[in-house]
Amino acid sequence: MDCIFCKIIAGEIPGDIVYQDEEVIAFRDINPQASTHLIIIPKKHIPSLADLSEADSPLIGHMVTVANQLARKEGIAEKGYRLTINCGEQGGQLVPHLHMHLLGGRRLTGKLG
Ligand code: 5GP
Ligand code: ZN
Repeated sequence: MDCIFCKIIAGEIPGDIVYQDEEVIAFRDINPQASTHLIIIPKKHIPSLADLSEADSPLIGHMVTVANQLARKEGIAEKGYRLTINCGEQGGQLVPHLHMHLLGGRRLTGKLG
């Protein structure tokens, strides 16, 4: 499949992987917007947030748990951080494999869009 994030999962292209388990993998964004900018994705190819079904609720919950653990590991948990999921073209999603951005390490703007 021609999906850049599936290629990172498969090890076909390099990724600065910081965490993985059976269900999810996390790596540093190639174009970081803050000193901590991690991407957390399911290993299963799900195109976007809009493609999640009720049965995927444990998976998305697990992604949030992993993100919180990584925020602590990165040392940004106390001062605060942001989890973002862009969905679809107008939601700003460029890579069509569901992903969560974990951003922190500076005061993020209040801008939501
Ligand atoms: P989106 O706009 O889809 O929510 O975010 C996609 C993110 O993936 C962007 O922040 C972009 O910098 C990152 N990205 C795109 N291609 C690659 C890649 O090949 N490797 C890594 N590590 N990040 C990527
Ligand atoms: Zn994929």
